[in-house]
Amino acid sequence: MIMMCFFIICVSSLNVKESSQNLLTEPKHIGFLSQLLLLFTFCHTCKANKPEVSARQEGTMAVVTTTCHNPACKRQVCTWRSQPNIPGTQIAAGNFLSCFAILLAGASPSKVIQIFLHMGLGCVTLRTFFRYQRVRSIQKNIHWPLYSRLFIFQA
Ligand SMILES: [Zn+2]
Repeated sequence: MIMMCFFIICVSSLNVKESSQNLLTEPKHIGFLSQLLLLFTFCHTCKANKPEVSARQEGTMAVVTTTCHNPACKRQVCTWRSQPNIPGTQIAAGNFLSCFAILLAGASPSKVIQIFLHMGLGCVTLRTFFRYQRVRSIQKNIHWPLYSRLFIFQA
């Protein structure tokens, strides 16, 4: 059974090279899983039709794993993630940026997460939101540079 949910996907119709250099300003869009799965109707390595496809979500990120049935395929199991990681971390950029945006907006995290859940939109848990706030290295290395780029240098 295919789960029907939204997820946030980071793509750009603008200059791809330019937009991929800044995770904060790179355009992000809401996508439907059913539409995403249309991209996985064939193996991206050997082009064999109908690989086995499984999808799961990690907060706002979709993770699609394909298993090719062609024994000659050089990469039978392939995993695709809809978001890059925050540089230097194992944290999906959309998960972190959504928490960061809630914090900067002064919004109630539980209300925002409820909005996401009512839409069927993938989101982090309240526990993850508060875990991100506690990680000292993230506060030091990511919060301040992001905050300064957003508010100080845009004046
Ligand atoms: Zn293959």
